[in-house]
Amino acid sequence: MQVLFAAYECAPFFKKGGLGDVIGSLPIALEDDGVDVSVVIPYYDLIINKYPQKKVGQIQVIFNSKLASVGIYKGKLPGSNVSIYFLRNKQYMAKVKAGDSKDKYKEYAFFSVAIAELIYWLAESIKWKPDIVHCHDWHTALVPLILKKHFISMPTILTIHNMSHQGTGSVGLLDMLHIGDTDAKVIKRGERVYELNILGEGILHSDSVTTVSQTYAKEITDSKSKERIYTYLKRKEKEEGKSFIFQGILNGIDYKVWDSNSDSFLYSKYNIRTYLSGKQKNKNEVLKKLHLSNKLTFCFIGRMVSQKGIDIIIKSIQQIRSYDINIVLLGEGNKKIEDAVHSLSKQYSSMIAAETYYSEPFSRQLFAASDFILIPSHFEPCGLIQMIAMRYGTIPVASRTGGLVDSITDEKNGFLFQNGSVADFVQAIKKAVETYSNKNKYHDMVQSAMQTDFSWGKSAAKYIDLYKKIMKKSG
Ligand code: ADP
Repeated sequence: MQVLFAAYECAPFFKKGGLGDVIGSLPIALEDDGVDVSVVIPYYDLIINKYPQKKVGQIQVIFNSKLASVGIYKGKLPGSNVSIYFLRNKQYMAKVKAGDSKDKYKEYAFFSVAIAELIYWLAESIKWKPDIVHCHDWHTALVPLILKKHFISMPTILTIHNMSHQGTGSVGLLDMLHIGDTDAKVIKRGERVYELNILGEGILHSDSVTTVSQTYAKEITDSKSKERIYTYLKRKEKEEGKSFIFQGILNGIDYKVWDSNSDSFLYSKYNIRTYLSGKQKNKNEVLKKLHLSNKLTFCFIGRMVSQKGIDIIIKSIQQIRSYDINIVLLGEGNKKIEDAVHSLSKQYSSMIAAETYYSEPFSRQLFAASDFILIPSHFEPCGLIQMIAMRYGTIPVASRTGGLVDSITDEKNGFLFQNGSVADFVQAIKKAVETYSNKNKYHDMVQSAMQTDFSWGKSAAKYIDLYKKIMKKSG
């Protein structure tokens, strides 16, 4: 079985969040189970600078009525035989565009057309033809529609990692892609809908849709859901009936990449037997660097966007300041949120440190140095930080939502609190502080967390089952 993964990020080459982790690890797990997987992502300048690759070919892409050249570069996912193709075009895919930049629509649309041309090139040049094209998030959600327009009849799967990014933009993009209104399923110019919803089109044009946890799958198909994606999923269900497969498959993490016993960024490596002294050594170094004293330490690691619930931490601070704890916040994103955490750390400088940048080494040191990790997300499709934290013996204190529910057992390997409730969050912190002072209970929880299985095995098997079903369905 041959599968092409089409995505925007892939760790370690380019990673903004959990999507990068998944694309850098799921293909390896699938390969271990006998699937022949290749990955394609854009070849950004920053990848060229850090991970230069070998050029293997060149394709031509028609976009916005012009012919553009795209270079094909090839490498391997580290520690595996999985091929990764990098597509290079200086005009559309060289610089990583900021936040909500309009150019992003063009960039991803251009990338999606280039993927169609890559599929032709792979078949002709190296005789490799995917049985399935597996697209991820709105960045590549136009691929199923574009493949149809390029006469490539190949089953497609769309995985929604986060539906808060849907890619809504002007219908003018269809002109650049040379796609008529009647080809897109929702757009009819002159009618009420005048916006293109890229993720929505992806749902309607792909053969199957998945998301990254069962609870999130339920949340987004709940009839009370106000999300626009709900209407696309319902329409698809209506059009295709029982043959439409929509499924939640929990993400996993790569146990070779996330291992406190071999992580070279740590000040001290440790395992389930040596975690007490190992974590303390990391804590000493990290707290020294941050000018904080040796106390029970909570951390936050994640993108600083409203989804992640930093407002809950800010609103609770008056109530939790009486505890003798440190809170270390690491993340970058929304400027307003970054400013808010900086002013919080100024106000409570002996308790709170705010580090607003992206750092792979520091994030790993912080996972290892912390006793607890705060995950007050308002919604969380899957979440990987709770899995990484648990693997590093750090107990999550998390909202009862999405994949957090599917990966944390309350009071066993973490604490869950009512989503969005400051009062419940404060209660959960209280429980965490009390547990820490009860050494037996704390020890049991750490052991349980470190032993919880988040490796890809089970979920990779579910994807393989799905691939087989989809291949059968499309004959
Ligand atoms: P999301 O996909 O919503 O960003 P996840 O919990 O699924 O959230 O994954 C986040 C990933 O990004 C984790 O691997 C986490 O360690 C990493 N990460 C987030 N912020 C930073 C940061 N500032 N520095 C380093 N790594 C980060």
